[in-house]
Amino acid sequence: MRTVWQQLLDRLAAGEVTICADEVPRWDKNQWGEVLGLGLLRETELAGAVVCDQCGEAHWAEVYWVTPGVKACFGCDTEGVIDIELDRLRQWRIDADRVAGLVAGSLDLSSPIEVLLRERLWRIGRRRMGGRYRDIYFGVGAGLPVAEMSAAIRSSIGPGSALLLTVGTDGNPDGIPAGQHRLDLASVSRVEGGRVVIDLDYVEERLAGEAASTRKSSPSIPVPAGTAWRDVSIIVFDGLLQVTVCGKVYEKEFGEIGVDEQSQPVQLLKLFAAARGTLSSERISEAPKGDTPPKTRVRRLRALLQSLIEIDGDPVPNQKKADTYTCAFEIRLVSDDGYPTPAGTTWIDFSFHERADGRLLVSTGEKQRRRGLAIERDDTVRAEVAETTREAVRTYLIDDIVPRPSSGKMPAGGSALLDLLRSGGRIRRAGDDMAILILAQRLREWTGLSQDPLSFSDSTGTWLASFSCSSALAAPK
Ligand SMILES: [Zn+2]
Repeated sequence: MRTVWQQLLDRLAAGEVTICADEVPRWDKNQWGEVLGLGLLRETELAGAVVCDQCGEAHWAEVYWVTPGVKACFGCDTEGVIDIELDRLRQWRIDADRVAGLVAGSLDLSSPIEVLLRERLWRIGRRRMGGRYRDIYFGVGAGLPVAEMSAAIRSSIGPGSALLLTVGTDGNPDGIPAGQHRLDLASVSRVEGGRVVIDLDYVEERLAGEAASTRKSSPSIPVPAGTAWRDVSIIVFDGLLQVTVCGKVYEKEFGEIGVDEQSQPVQLLKLFAAARGTLSSERISEAPKGDTPPKTRVRRLRALLQSLIEIDGDPVPNQKKADTYTCAFEIRLVSDDGYPTPAGTTWIDFSFHERADGRLLVSTGEKQRRRGLAIERDDTVRAEVAETTREAVRTYLIDDIVPRPSSGKMPAGGSALLDLLRSGGRIRRAGDDMAILILAQRLREWTGLSQDPLSFSDSTGTWLASFSCSSALAAPK
């Protein structure tokens, strides 16, 4: 037997939101009193018709007012004119906004409730459930396909995690994207002690179960055949990894790839990221504290990386002689921002080159001193007597310089930079071209230089870069 609360949710789901006094005696008196106390039923205008309870035919009869608001009656063909008790004419309407509020309260959500689709879909807050933060929604089916609710959620929060508590949508999961989960509100809630209670243990269990099954079905990032670790770039964020493989960007939360952020492999990965990819064995054994030998720590990290990205070969090879481990892919922390511009540098010193693989080489003419080993023609190795100098060249992704928004599409400033490199530093664009102005601003931030990196010539109608531009992908002249 469904409780009064569940029956009211069923009525809401069916779009039959008006309850007449005649229905009330069929319901449990205590439960009725309890739902009235929740405030989810709004008393509305008195009924204009009643079902005859005199002749046994149960026909509808119109209400006539003898004294408006005081005395009413109805007519029955066999029983004549019958007086009506005014209480029989009372009606209540289910207040769906209030139901959304009650569900929010039962989940201890405190942010303001937001209506996404009027009378149909509410964003009721955000909290941690089933191991991650989720945006929580309440949805009323009543003819609205769940796919439409999903689409509204998607356009509101993008591909984030959402829990959708609904009434009146069938169990068909089609049209619900990964990351969104739907549960039937009537089966996970009850009214108890004058309030709505959600069975949190059950909800957590369901979400954890679904997370486990999605993990099985999408274990890793797909890679084209022939991809090598050097084609991979990883940026470590709090809570997730942004992985770029052959130009495609993937975001993987740690929970999604089955690891805890505090676990040893993730801590080690962060350490590599902070060091831009190379660590000594000594450094690996230091942090995080523990007796695990560096070899074992790296082995666990390799296993994690290989399960995440299916590429053959060692992602973290060991340089035995130097006693270091170096990531075979590019890795950095998200906070690792900006170019280390040496003092006294101006835009004229800068050069940007786009490599055939899409990476950008940036240098400032700054000399890097290094004492190295030289290999002679006869393969003998000798320490170099003199110090050699070479220009410091750094490798970046275009996204490092002009960050890509979470939508994944390259921003206008990024394409403007590529245009500029491929056209040797001179492009025809309007003097108020937004992409160029944004790019100029971003380049000033990224290098810390206050001068303008680009200037516009009114006479030729072109933008000219003050730094050197070249590209392996430039169109042949
Ligand atoms: Zn009758």
